Amino acid sequence: MLAMNYRGPYRVRTVHKAEPEIEHPNDAIVRVTRSCICGSDLHLYHGLVPDTRVGSTFGHEFTGIVEEVGPSVQGLKKGDAVLVPFNIFCGSCFFCRKELYGNCHNVNPEATAVGGIYGYSHTAGGYDGGQAEFVRVPMADVGPTVIPADLDLDDAVLLTDAYPTGYQAAEMGEIAQGDTVVVFGAGPVGLFAAKSAWLMGAGRVIVVDHIEHRLEFAKTFAQCEVIDFRTVDDMALHIKRMTDWLGADVCIDCVGCEAAGSALQRLTGIKLKMQAGAATVLHWCINAVRKGGTVSIVGVYGPTFNAVPIGNALNKGLTLRMNQASVKRHLPRLIEHIQAGRIKPSEVISHRFALEDIADAYHMFSSKLDGMIKPVLVPRG
Ligand code: NAD
Ligand code: ZN
Repeated sequence: MLAMNYRGPYRVRTVHKAEPEIEHPNDAIVRVTRSCICGSDLHLYHGLVPDTRVGSTFGHEFTGIVEEVGPSVQGLKKGDAVLVPFNIFCGSCFFCRKELYGNCHNVNPEATAVGGIYGYSHTAGGYDGGQAEFVRVPMADVGPTVIPADLDLDDAVLLTDAYPTGYQAAEMGEIAQGDTVVVFGAGPVGLFAAKSAWLMGAGRVIVVDHIEHRLEFAKTFAQCEVIDFRTVDDMALHIKRMTDWLGADVCIDCVGCEAAGSALQRLTGIKLKMQAGAATVLHWCINAVRKGGTVSIVGVYGPTFNAVPIGNALNKGLTLRMNQASVKRHLPRLIEHIQAGRIKPSEVISHRFALEDIADAYHMFSSKLDGMIKPVLVPRG
């Protein structure tokens, strides 16, 4: 089969690879119908995630058709169209019973923090991902959800990660009626966080980025105010000025470690205003939120990342919340939002690629060139 193949930082290609097989009675094999590239894949692509092995196939956002099921699988059958949450989880351990599917104890037992994620390095369990024609889906009765007949495939694939993650980012912000919410990052995750913030009662939503076409899109997709951070000298001061000197009630980090910024700088030569070596966005969130406010973090950081201004957070009495999204927990509500016409997730899809063009797809998504918001891989023919 054709599959994306990691060759080292900034080098990916399409290769022929053996099709996956049932390895365990609970497995299913799924033929991929849509697969996205995520901002999280860029951390792998930029070589920032430990134990990302040459030869592995990325892809944790995919839909597909069930081709084959192992003998223990009860809830799925050949031919079912499914969306597959990015978390691989058992559904029954201590953490899964608390619906913390990103922290499942059974799928990646050697790790101290993260659970299992498709196509996300050996740090996240060493599973191959869905940027391929076929993928092995472990614990097939637990993660995959049969796609409702009235749901568009392009909307369904965004339910595997980007939309639930943005939604959970807003949910962890514990938004109260009328709150001012600042979302850092106008990528797909930030856009969904902004949109969700309104549905949770926010009175004002401000999105921060430095990519003009994404800020323009944020204004229409999420009806928010925007800040181009290249025009701001002191972010915390700027937000305070906008909020009667209180600061924002909630700040949400949908950026993560700075590779996205530094990669853009490397590829385009655009000079970015960033604090040297620091987690710019974490500083901005902690310093721009009001005393007693909440900072919600879904942007991904390396496991040992520690450049956090924790003293400021303590002195301000902040609540800090963060996690990998627990995708499955949010699906019923988010499907309802789509069916009720409150959101059309696929509006964020800006580019379509065939698997054969994987190198171009990664390059363009990493550099955010040509109006890039969200790329989706669609099988040829
Ligand atoms: P993306 O790369 O498309 O978007 C990131 C955006 O952040 C870009 O538009 C970039 O210009 C902007 N940015 C860079 N530096 C910034 C700064 N200092 N201030 C404001 N904006 C800045 O990525 P995405 O797909 O939207 O994902 C966003 C983050 O969410 C990534 O870190 C990704 O790994 C993470 N993520 C987390 C989870 C989870 O479960 N916690 C799931 C999916 C994605
Ligand atoms: Zn993702």
